[in-house]
Amino acid sequence: MESLVRDTIESRVHSVLAKIRSATEKAGRPAVSVRLVAATKTVAIPQIMEGVQAGLSILGENRVQEALAKVPALKQGLVQWHFIGQLQRRKVRSVIGLFDLIHSVDSLELAREIDRRAGDAGHRQDVLLEINIGNEPTKAGFLPEQVRQAMPEMACLSYVRIRGLMAIPPPTADPDSARPYFRKLNELARMIDAQHFPSVKMEELSMGMSGDYEVAIEEGATLVRVGTAIFGARHV
Ligand SMILES: *Cc1c(COP(=O)(O)O)cnc(C)c1O
Repeated sequence: MESLVRDTIESRVHSVLAKIRSATEKAGRPAVSVRLVAATKTVAIPQIMEGVQAGLSILGENRVQEALAKVPALKQGLVQWHFIGQLQRRKVRSVIGLFDLIHSVDSLELAREIDRRAGDAGHRQDVLLEINIGNEPTKAGFLPEQVRQAMPEMACLSYVRIRGLMAIPPPTADPDSARPYFRKLNELARMIDAQHFPSVKMEELSMGMSGDYEVAIEEGATLVRVGTAIFGARHV
């Protein structure tokens, strides 16, 4: 049967926001506890604008070069930008002040470099620590056992404010198979909280993408990063 609703960016934004609301409610969590980060890699500015007009308020970019062009064009009103891609140390200087949150701090060296550059700019940078939750050899991120060892030093960095964890679980055939990874990330956050570093608060769990964000919400996600379900398949 042909759908009566036209398939547009606007209709997809509304549909994703509605699914987030219902998954949040089903999980017995307050509506404000989950926010949508629209992943905008390879998406052109007019399309992103369409999404913002439809109700997107947080945009997530993966590549520094792309972000440098997009952020100034779209940084208006209540729109927030987050950095969600792999961040090279030599690019850190150009991202300080550009992003409200960096989701992808994947090493102690990167955390130190952000601290140094943010310090130079007199700016405190909010970050999440990226965890290689499936222990995949080719994937970036702290291994779960590494992060707890690195915490004491990271917690002492003056200009890096650690607000939570992020993960991209191994690809799974169905959303429910991602659940154990989401649960494990949540448990890791609770363990870090139990270490009681005064400067560290595990308030955010960035997990869940187009295929599995509803399951991630059931397991405690506070930020879901969704691209394809809003902007369509990427061709680049
Ligand atoms: C592209 C991307 C997403 C969104 O993925 P979709 O499957 O298109 O929703 C989420 N997180 C990161 C880090 C990404 O690079």
